[in-house]
Amino acid sequence: MDRPVADSLINELAEQYGTPLYIYNANIIGERIADLRRFDVIRYAEKANANLSLLNWIRDQGVTIDTVSVWEIERALKAGYTASEIVFTADLFDHHISKFLREYHVHVNLGSPDMLEQYTQLKTGREVTLRINPGFGHGHDRKVNTGGEESKHGIWHESLPAVLKRAGKLGLKVTGIHMHIGSGSDFTHLSRVREAISKAAFMAKEHLTTISVGGGLPVPYRPDEKPFDVAHYCADWLATKKTIEAELGKSINMEVEPGRYLVAECGLLVCEVRGIKSSGAVNYILVDAGFDNLIRPAMYGAYHHITIPGRASAGIKPQVVAGPLCESADVFTQTKGGYIEPRPLPETQAGDLLCIHNAGAYTASMASNYNSRPLAAEVLVENGAARLVRQRQSLEDMLSNEIDYLQANSR
Ligand SMILES: *Cc1c(COP(=O)(O)O)cnc(C)c1O
Repeated sequence: MDRPVADSLINELAEQYGTPLYIYNANIIGERIADLRRFDVIRYAEKANANLSLLNWIRDQGVTIDTVSVWEIERALKAGYTASEIVFTADLFDHHISKFLREYHVHVNLGSPDMLEQYTQLKTGREVTLRINPGFGHGHDRKVNTGGEESKHGIWHESLPAVLKRAGKLGLKVTGIHMHIGSGSDFTHLSRVREAISKAAFMAKEHLTTISVGGGLPVPYRPDEKPFDVAHYCADWLATKKTIEAELGKSINMEVEPGRYLVAECGLLVCEVRGIKSSGAVNYILVDAGFDNLIRPAMYGAYHHITIPGRASAGIKPQVVAGPLCESADVFTQTKGGYIEPRPLPETQAGDLLCIHNAGAYTASMASNYNSRPLAAEVLVENGAARLVRQRQSLEDMLSNEIDYLQANSR
């Protein structure tokens, strides 16, 4: 698997900003955006990677945004998005978002029936879209399956007629139908959404202007995985759009809502090997990044490809890559259930850089301060030129909102 930026640049940036370090190549995001241009609207799911400069860059490409918290909305506004470019998708209104919506108008995509009355009470708008749970879902892991009875997401498909009536009584116009069945899904499941969305669109036809097909498009995480057949995906959805338009006798806007697909492949998590050791039969490579920087292996048993620049094929042997955190789950080579999975990697030594691939999505955005480690720095590269887009967090940043009880009481 190719590294998304040149090795010389990786070395230079690691030297300049230290490790662990996230590096993103904007040009790769640009290619993924281009893959989806046949949709009328590309709406980026901010939660995949919410870095301010990255959002700003994505917005510059004419991509709108889907947000799932009030803070994501405010971050998008800070990145230059206008309120009309933002959609808020949720299964409930918490008090923070309710207060915000009373003052500012942002389009909402409702995932639960009770939100209808609550939305009317906010007096912020009259048009809403509905997120429908089509009765099935699929993701790369059970934890990211967002459809079916066991998913908390969306309005159950069988409730749609009643919900449409309820909306009508409240004077709300349902202008769109949305379905998002899971993250990192596959072609078969994403195709099943086409029929479900058509059915729902026919029911909601009166004020319908938009369908959103959701995100969930997968990316290849393993070097032998085939890329997603995105041309086929677009063609299928265009055909579905035509069918819906013919049935309704009007044109509609078709939105796609990718997170992972746009940003996963552009990113690298660069860390440094700090030592090697063997515990019985298991060989460990110890690096200075942990699941505070990338939680997907610990959380989902997710595979992330690992390469060691400058040590391409010498002395390959099965090795486990582990981080500095005080927890056994702090391993980048593990399967679902937390079983370590030694991986054939070149022999390495302290001081080598180690790259963890596909670290652009659900990586920095899921990072934490566990073990009081600071959030790592982020660099955005465009046409080979690198810019620091987030400084490494300082201890002072980390403590800035904590209260020292003793000091507070001695005043
Ligand atoms: C997370 C999410 C997405 C994006 O999912 P990906 O698998 O990253 O494409 C899209 N829409 C909604 C509502 C989401 O919550």
